[in-house]
Amino acid sequence: MTHVVTESCIRCKYTDCVDVCPVDCFREGPNFLTIDPDECIDCAVCIPECPVSAIYAEEDLPKDQVHMTALNAELARLPSWKSITKRKDPLPDAEEWKDRTGKLPELLR
Ligand code: SF4
Ligand code: SF4
Repeated sequence: MTHVVTESCIRCKYTDCVDVCPVDCFREGPNFLTIDPDECIDCAVCIPECPVSAIYAEEDLPKDQVHMTALNAELARLPSWKSITKRKDPLPDAEEWKDRTGKLPELLR
């Protein structure tokens, strides 16, 4: 199993989650964070940290977010997606995007 970042994170990237991960398994892209499934130890401490409730255990994913498991794994392998371990400012228009759905077309690699 792993934990998975879902579409709610796209264009927000609040990064509260990375501060608490004991194994530093978050990877950062231009406007989304992903979890490396090979490193996640399923401790679940990141789940309550996310202000937009973007993180789920793989087995608890809403049906419309199941595709994000494979996408997290794929993005975590991209060489340009580096490890992020310290919280930083969210994207400037994060507030505007945080409650929107269907953000997958907005994802930048
Ligand atoms: S706290 Fe939530 S919105 Fe922020 S980077 Fe982590 S998963 Fe994305
Ligand atoms: S479940 Fe634990 S190990 Fe996995 S990403 Fe969240 S904080 Fe990191």
